[in-house]
Amino acid sequence: EAKVTFTGQTRVMTVSNQKGGVGKTTTTVNIAAAIAELGGRVLVIDLDPQGNASTALGVPHSADVPSIYDVLIDDFPIADVIQPSPESENLFCAPSTIHLAGAEIELVSQVAREHRLKTALDTFLAEQEHAFDFILIDCPPSLGLLTINAFTAADEVFLPIQAEYYALEGLSQLLGNIKMIQKHLNPRIHVSTILLTMFDQRTRLSQQVGDEVRSHFPNGVLKTVIPRSVRVSEAPSFGQTVITYDGGSAGAVAYREAAVEIVSRGAKNSEEEKA
Ligand code: ADP
Ligand code: MG
Repeated sequence: EAKVTFTGQTRVMTVSNQKGGVGKTTTTVNIAAAIAELGGRVLVIDLDPQGNASTALGVPHSADVPSIYDVLIDDFPIADVIQPSPESENLFCAPSTIHLAGAEIELVSQVAREHRLKTALDTFLAEQEHAFDFILIDCPPSLGLLTINAFTAADEVFLPIQAEYYALEGLSQLLGNIKMIQKHLNPRIHVSTILLTMFDQRTRLSQQVGDEVRSHFPNGVLKTVIPRSVRVSEAPSFGQTVITYDGGSAGAVAYREAAVEIVSRGAKNSEEEKA
């Protein structure tokens, strides 16, 4: 019996949080691998010049590899840069290369600079109808043009929050930015999914931060939390997600549960932030 069913729609999610080090990339690749394991076809778009998602998915991304840079700057079709990930036959990646570091500046002078990714994705999806159940975009930790391109192309914001003291700091700024994108660039964008990462069940601090985030976003926060786990942080150095690196570990189990929640909840809007 299948654990989940896929709707036939392509859900485009941007994994965003202006803070660095909160688990965006880790969440992107592990949720992607877990959804692929459930039978969904998943594309990860690596929009971070650091290329950590490409590395974790075992996809080559040296300077000479066609990448999302060529899509944004030179109008390459996305189909021409997509590579299969050795993680799963259902998992693919449009890699980032070092060139993407310059794209933030190069985009400034381009026509339709905020819509480049959206246009490329629309063209791809029109040609290859239902090639993917999920498209997950891994964003850099800033609100530059790369992140704005992700917000313009996506329907859903997937917000990982690290269970630490300053967890909520900066979130109202992020939500303000999302409102601005909604108004000027993409009326469909909404926060659908919030995930607590690096959660330490033994500490009161994690519990308190969890309670606070849940009272702020009563419906958006997944029931599953991701524990802090060495296996999760080790996996990328083997070019793997934790799902294949150590599938029985607590981190892998949690990411699988979170993936089931995400697929079964659908794309609905999470409740507005409480005033
Ligand atoms: P971001 O993409 O938001 O900058 P990363 O996903 O790169 O954040 O994570 C930041 C650091 O935290 C990385 O070194 C990563 O390995 C580590 N990390 C992320 N999630 C976990 C976890 N659940 N347990 C332990 N370490 C984690
Ligand atoms: Mg990252």
